[in-house]
Amino acid sequence: MRILVVEDEHRIANSIKKGLELETYVVDVAYLGNDGYDLASTEDYDLIILDILLPQMDGITFCKKLRKNKIHTPVLMLTAKGQIEDKVTGLDSGADDYLTKPFSFEELLARVRALSRRPKTALDEVLSVEDLRLNTKLYQVERGGKKIKLTSKEFSLLEYLMRNAGKILKKEQIINHVWDYDADILPNTVEVYIKNLRNRIDVPFKKKNPLIKTVRGFGYKIE
Ligand code: CA
Repeated sequence: MRILVVEDEHRIANSIKKGLELETYVVDVAYLGNDGYDLASTEDYDLIILDILLPQMDGITFCKKLRKNKIHTPVLMLTAKGQIEDKVTGLDSGADDYLTKPFSFEELLARVRALSRRPKTALDEVLSVEDLRLNTKLYQVERGGKKIKLTSKEFSLLEYLMRNAGKILKKEQIINHVWDYDADILPNTVEVYIKNLRNRIDVPFKKKNPLIKTVRGFGYKIE
């Protein structure tokens, strides 16, 4: 799950980023309207959190422009307290929901969960493929009842594979969904992470079928 936060108040932007990252979302931040728009129109996001009052390009213009260019990424708009008109204009401009500042992180998280363009199964807290289980709430992974320890990147990678179980995922798709925009990731970094993940979920279970498959020339899938 990759989210773009466009907010010029650094403190707010950074605390949203930090909080969402703890929930294993991948988060990019832009502090200026134009920079945010460039990212939103060239990168693949599952959700955009967009402040209305922004330098260079305000949130309303931003959102209208996105929709005009047929980019339908869900937008959660941040409005200042009491500005009812903002909410109406925001929703008119094509935003999907709004949140009034100041808000609690829990409120934000609830909206983010509701708006994330997740496949239906994504609402499940526990994902499973054969005897492999991943609990997105408790950050636990186990296979055949045996607990498996993963780093947070390995966890995000496995979650992405499991949410798309049976589908072939290209390395570029994996990079886009699991790493930040800033991260300098080469396709062979994905290979390294896949190898590490295999060492944790497949290699120790020799008597069972390996779950992560390499599809030569295409990418990877789990099934
Ligand atoms: Ca602002």
